[in-house]
Amino acid sequence: MAKKTTTKKVIKKAKPKKKVDLKQQTIDSIVELIRVTSTVVPDDVFKTIAAAAKNEQKNTTADYAMGIIKENIDLAKYKSQPLCQDTGTVIFYIYHPAGFHQTPFKELIKKAVTLATKKGYLRQNSVNSLTGENAGTNLGEGHPSIHFYEQKGSEVEVKLMLKGGGCENVSAQYSLPDTTLGAGRDLEGVRKVVIDAVYKAQGKGCGPGALGVCVGGDRADSAYFAKKQLLRKLDDKNSNKDLDKLEKEIVETCNKLGIGPMGFGGKTTLLSCKMTHANRVPASFFVSISYMCWAFRRQGIVLNKNFAIKKWLY
Ligand code: SF4
Repeated sequence: MAKKTTTKKVIKKAKPKKKVDLKQQTIDSIVELIRVTSTVVPDDVFKTIAAAAKNEQKNTTADYAMGIIKENIDLAKYKSQPLCQDTGTVIFYIYHPAGFHQTPFKELIKKAVTLATKKGYLRQNSVNSLTGENAGTNLGEGHPSIHFYEQKGSEVEVKLMLKGGGCENVSAQYSLPDTTLGAGRDLEGVRKVVIDAVYKAQGKGCGPGALGVCVGGDRADSAYFAKKQLLRKLDDKNSNKDLDKLEKEIVETCNKLGIGPMGFGGKTTLLSCKMTHANRVPASFFVSISYMCWAFRRQGIVLNKNFAIKKWLY
């Protein structure tokens, strides 16, 4: 006769659940976000670069330059090493639900940045603008740059952009009208100044470039909104019909300028142009252009309730 098994014997004692250290988990998730952003070009950018490389005439300097860029991208991903020695200004965009505590999250971001710097995912890149001192941690006055936005729902999204210095140097702001360029206060004037900025950036800023543009706003907001356009996927569509048309026209025109990758000539001068607009006062009409190099580093994550990575955004 089979031995009677008591329920007591069958039910295994449930192991006590391991308590998640939410602070450590947040730091780990952000360090991983920094690693991936620094070492892997997002899919939409890679696809655009690969398509542009195919389009270059074989055995030209442009073809060679695009090949080197692609090799660099593959190697950085394979070795998990930064795409470029300049790991850039570290800019976070955090979208959170109501009631989210920003101050402690900011502190955890700073810890993650310090750790990512120690691990080599970020170069010791941030210096005091008055003394030139480098703390070696990437922390300091105004750095990293962190922006918070309240959003509906319960999810926390963290987006990160690493903005290189060379491409930042060729970013520009125009005040319309610009008589030297014959640029008036309309979309045709905007088109002229954006093309002028690309023309002036040739051979600098490590092209092919991608642009974020803001029409209007005051000087500070205009530059801020322009850079934020770089968070858009390269294959998306502008919801404003006029700007959507202008984005495409600018890319087409710039790719006929013959500047090419790194300014070596060729068909690939611009990968994309993303535009937005902001109200202005009648006295001003600013157009801001944020130029991003081929090492287009931006990524994003959605965190789960334990602050582990639930989803990648790009
Ligand atoms: S512009 Fe971009 S690719 Fe060129 S050095 Fe700076 S970060 Fe690197």
